[in-house]
Amino acid sequence: MTVAPRNRHDRFLELFPKEPAFRLRQIEKAYFTSSMTGWESVTTLSKDMRTVLEREIPWISCKAVTTLSSNRGDTHKVVLEGYDGQLYESVLMANMRNQWTICVSSQIGCAMGCTFCATGTMGLKRNLSSDEIADQYRFWRAFLTERPELPQRISNVVFMGMGEPLVNLENVKAAIHTWLQNTDLGPTRITVSTVGVLPVLEEILKDPLWPPVRIAISLHSPEEESRRKIVPTTAPHFHTRLAKWTHDYQEVHGNRRHHVTFEYTLISGVNDNAEEAKRLVQFVRKTSAVKVNVIPLNPVSGKAFTASSRQGIEDFKTVLLNAGINVTERKTMGQDIAAACGQLALTVKSGGKVVG
Ligand code: SAH
Ligand code: SF4
Repeated sequence: MTVAPRNRHDRFLELFPKEPAFRLRQIEKAYFTSSMTGWESVTTLSKDMRTVLEREIPWISCKAVTTLSSNRGDTHKVVLEGYDGQLYESVLMANMRNQWTICVSSQIGCAMGCTFCATGTMGLKRNLSSDEIADQYRFWRAFLTERPELPQRISNVVFMGMGEPLVNLENVKAAIHTWLQNTDLGPTRITVSTVGVLPVLEEILKDPLWPPVRIAISLHSPEEESRRKIVPTTAPHFHTRLAKWTHDYQEVHGNRRHHVTFEYTLISGVNDNAEEAKRLVQFVRKTSAVKVNVIPLNPVSGKAFTASSRQGIEDFKTVLLNAGINVTERKTMGQDIAAACGQLALTVKSGGKVVG
């Protein structure tokens, strides 16, 4: 078995134990500076140090295997290879501001087994290291720098790629702090999407180092029994505990900018009828979540589920809107390259263009 390399900070300190602390900050900055493309370009470091670093610490923790672009050019997906040869995916999507949102992975595969999600069928291979998570931003930064004809700004990051971020908490937290310190991303431009791992949600309320990012809870059903059929990890009393958690969260962060959103993937005949919409209204009213984001189901091969019809989606949204609940619908992007939500399972679809 390949042993996970210690993170690059620790490795640097092993190599150069006497270096002042600012040296690490200087290196972190260099990692996130577009004009720096390798150790040789960090000329603020001595030549001798650069030679050692070149040999001992890879400039970036991942290698691109395949890069695909959707036919519309608004979504790009990369298959990356980690330190042990295992593969994971990362997605770059155009957003409404004509800027980019990165959809990052936090794990290779996922142990949660949600029945409608392609990543869930892979099982969990391993956690991504903090460097592997943080470097998905650096990969896409370099991708855009090489394509000056495209908009350049990465304005948002969402943890909606492969994996469940809350079961890789320390690495997810470290990657978020790295971005907050070294990029222009503010905490409200970063969204952690979770299946709702209650003990960890409860833990982050007490964690002074948890960054004030946005949280999206994948709800998918207003009731425990029916949720468990599609989200098998649903804990006993899930909805009651989640409702309480949203109030505690509001108390700790006390600010609408740090709001909680519910995500609700609409699956035909499973969770999309008018009764369910009404029960969802009742549940949302017991919480302090400020928004429901409905996601039309993206097809996943080998799964019997189908997306709700356009009319079905509209009807569902109307019930919520009429009850005064703020509803948004996620725009489906990148289906032709299997890059849409829930489709990340290392399949390289024939649509789109291979660009690298
Ligand atoms: N594990 C986290 C984050 C990754 S999944 C979570 O579950 O929230 C990101 C989002 O994609 C989640 O809201 C998830 O429910 C949704 N999703 C999974 N499979 C999907 C599919 N086939 N179609 C649409 N959305 C899907
Ligand atoms: Fe894992 Fe999220 Fe997919 Fe569920 S939806 S299997 S938690 S990645």
